[in-house]
Amino acid sequence: MRRFRYLILLLVVLLSLVSGARNVILFIGDGMGPNQVSIANYVYYKNTGENLIFFDFPFLSFVDTNNASNQVTDSAAAATSFAIGLRTNNGIVGLDQREKVQENVSEKAKSLGKSVGIVTDTSITDATPAAFVAHTNSRRNSDVISAAFLDLQPDVFMGMGLSSFTLSGRSQKGWDNRDLIKELQDLSYQVVYDRSSMEQSTSPKLAGFFNNISYAFTQRGPFRTQPNLKEMTKKSLEILSQNENGFFLMVEAAVIDGSGHNNDVVGTIYDVWALEEAVKEALLFREKHPETLIIVTADHETGGMTLDPNTFPLLLERLSEVTRITPQIESMLGSSPTLQWARYVFEDSGIEVKEADLQTIVKATSGRAALVGKAITKYVGGAKYSTTGHSSQRVQLFAVGKGADRIPKELKNYEFGKLLAQFVTEE
Ligand SMILES: [Zn+2]
Repeated sequence: MRRFRYLILLLVVLLSLVSGARNVILFIGDGMGPNQVSIANYVYYKNTGENLIFFDFPFLSFVDTNNASNQVTDSAAAATSFAIGLRTNNGIVGLDQREKVQENVSEKAKSLGKSVGIVTDTSITDATPAAFVAHTNSRRNSDVISAAFLDLQPDVFMGMGLSSFTLSGRSQKGWDNRDLIKELQDLSYQVVYDRSSMEQSTSPKLAGFFNNISYAFTQRGPFRTQPNLKEMTKKSLEILSQNENGFFLMVEAAVIDGSGHNNDVVGTIYDVWALEEAVKEALLFREKHPETLIIVTADHETGGMTLDPNTFPLLLERLSEVTRITPQIESMLGSSPTLQWARYVFEDSGIEVKEADLQTIVKATSGRAALVGKAITKYVGGAKYSTTGHSSQRVQLFAVGKGADRIPKELKNYEFGKLLAQFVTEE
């Protein structure tokens, strides 16, 4: 009996040696359903003769995206199911459906002496990154969520949303008089605000607050001061790989979701490509660190997007002419644009809009973003949308590396969360 027990123990040890994943890199395309991947891959393939690199990952699974009350999920409930391995209700971050605190995967990694990184191209206090850091009953509690970064102390975190961390920002919002930037520095963080300081940093603890990184993909060129998703991922891997115990890194491409809400196919394609570039960095890293698991998945689909193959030739012809996506155009339009100004903004962005649509956009007192996004998609073609909200479509999960073969072909989002915790906590 004792020998049998030793044999079992030996087997467990051997199994963990061959199947354990020491570094886990999780990419989340927010709102990235199968059609979002498909259209971005289609144009990419036409341009380069190759598929998106993660499209050809050896392991493909499908994840169902319900929340605890079987509704269409939001990003808070979806990311929470990944982070704690339990479903919860919409709006909730890091708590179960009874609003009880549950240890998240980042905390589990930290307690084992592993490093943690959190990266996004939206606000760092947004629902997806928040679920991997904070525990609060509303995704809108940015005061609690920002402060939670100082409790968890991820070795690196980068995104937008500086004002939740500054003394002036917090006091103006009527939260408190804490200066989280000063507190971060007291905790030995280097805090950076632009691309070159980020790249030059040699600090083992790094916090990055940037502007407009979501647009960095469309702002190529030498004068770009803000990093993009690829550059943030590269820097994070440099920092995290210094820990011999391994790490967990979550990278979110959030503009896919925003573009889905705006029904803007161009924004979607660009951000899936931004994600692709970041994934390539992870693959380069894995060449030197084979004990790494890379997962690319989504929290839910946004926009109820379907493809419109009849207009694909149009898309291929016109996509490269478009130089701005919805939020950029919206901010240029301002709150009460004239027809003439709106016509100029669209023309200057490489988009032709019919006079009647332009009038609707100018007159809109609310929901202008979706009107702008729809005008962009009408011009370039490629996709149709059924909602400006989320859908309940299943999402894909692409995986490569140590442990990827253990991910079932079909799983629920919270089951993936449980598996993720296993991968991260294994030796
Ligand atoms: Zn959304």
